[in-house]
Amino acid sequence: MLDLTYPAPKPKVIAGAKHDWELVIGLEVHAQVATKAKLFSGASTRFGAEPNANVAFVDAGMPGMLPVINEGCVAQAVRTGLGLKAEIHLTSAFDRKNYFYPDLPQGYQISQLYHPIVGEGEVLVEMGDGTARTVRIERIHLEQDAGKSIHDMDPHMSFVDLNRTGVALMEIVSRPDIRGPEEAAAYVAKLRLIMLYLGTCDGNMQNGNLRADVNVSVCRPGAYERYQETGDFSHLGTRCEIKNMNSLRFIQAAIEYEARRQIAILEDGGSVVQETRLYDPDKGETRSMRSKEEAHDYRYFPDPDLLPLEIEQAWVDDIAAHLPELPDAKKARFLGDYGLSDYDASVLTADLDAAHYFEAVVAEAGDGKLAANWVINELFGRLKKEDHAIADSPVSPAQLGGIIRLIRAGDISGKIAKDLFEIVYTEGGDPAEIVEARGLKQVTDTGAIEAAVDEIIAANPAQVEKARANPKLAGWFVGQVMKATGGKANPAVVNQLVSAKLGL
Ligand code: ADP
Ligand code: MG
Repeated sequence: MLDLTYPAPKPKVIAGAKHDWELVIGLEVHAQVATKAKLFSGASTRFGAEPNANVAFVDAGMPGMLPVINEGCVAQAVRTGLGLKAEIHLTSAFDRKNYFYPDLPQGYQISQLYHPIVGEGEVLVEMGDGTARTVRIERIHLEQDAGKSIHDMDPHMSFVDLNRTGVALMEIVSRPDIRGPEEAAAYVAKLRLIMLYLGTCDGNMQNGNLRADVNVSVCRPGAYERYQETGDFSHLGTRCEIKNMNSLRFIQAAIEYEARRQIAILEDGGSVVQETRLYDPDKGETRSMRSKEEAHDYRYFPDPDLLPLEIEQAWVDDIAAHLPELPDAKKARFLGDYGLSDYDASVLTADLDAAHYFEAVVAEAGDGKLAANWVINELFGRLKKEDHAIADSPVSPAQLGGIIRLIRAGDISGKIAKDLFEIVYTEGGDPAEIVEARGLKQVTDTGAIEAAVDEIIAANPAQVEKARANPKLAGWFVGQVMKATGGKANPAVVNQLVSAKLGL
């Protein structure tokens, strides 16, 4: 199992303020469920379709149309809940959240306010510096997405695209356990990764398939601990909610800005007004959208068209039995089975393609550490140069594994291996055959190496004197021999012969 005895990160303290302040952050993440059809209709969810091509009568709010729940969406929510080690509620219910919007033809959004399908869970959030924190999940509920109003295509008209209307979203609500901007970004990244592993959300933030409402408050040191002990929110500061963030970078910038804004108000003797704010990435500021007093009264009530949702424990157990290996478990296995460093294991599990590629290389090469080294340092570096994804790698796991096998067998030196990698990357081919055909095999024949050593010693009497006085300088001879043999001499043999010949 994963070692959870990390030091907890320190809460972020804002510099430049008169007093010490700490940040408290809670996130409501909206994740579009990866399914073919919408939550209550058979219309397609395909992105990039013609406007209003994916609209069933029920999505368009036609009178008398009845919603029919999509079992696939329910399964995905359950799967996500299980992936977040959460409690699954066998009975949940749908409510209508009433409001008017031109892109909401029903006049309400179907959501789960009172009885969500998923209850309390948790996410382990690891920071780059080796610290980690468990962020508690309060709930996950299923709800419909709204459509899209387009205001910038015509000077006189707005357009409405209902393709998104009724698409299933999972709203994942965290407890206010996040203590800094970097941690907030790491939390969203980890949620995204878990859902990518589970196949329950495609995680595409640019398309808006994963977006977050970010709740931020500040408090004096000690207040958060009092909240944790008592569960009493009144120990915390008043929060503002920054709506609809779909970039990890902007989430961090918005939190930084918002914290400074609130601290400035409080240090001036004012008080923070609970409100919904919007982040403006061009200005790097948040601005008020609506205050709590103006907040909508959504007049939630149970949707009379939908019976309470009852699922069976056996069905949940079946989904649980077929969950894939998740990021924390995979990382723990990479640490344990292959002896990787924490950093390497994190890098390789932060992307499912990378993890699969790596394990395919290990299967060929038989050495986890070497494989990790080659995948992370050589392959990733090379792919990055050309902006290639791992899936498009010109070097297959079998080819990279073949190169590593040649190194392990002592057939090629590390330097030649890099040249060989470049050849395979650009020209393709079987590594062992290339080594044979181009005479890249490492020379372990002492006779040939000895001749090269003798020649270099004879040609450089001054260097010989220096090296005898200072044995550290013997490295120069090793370098010369390697050069003379085109990098093919076995470095261990060269070292040994140089030392012997110089009488060191
Ligand atoms: P609402 O539905 O009105 O937005 P919720 O109680 O569902 O209110 O809370 C929304 C989010 O706000 C949750 O993620 C929660 O953790 C977070 N939150 C609650 N209080 C605070 C606070 N004082 N500071 C920061 N975040 C908070
Ligand atoms: Mg909210």
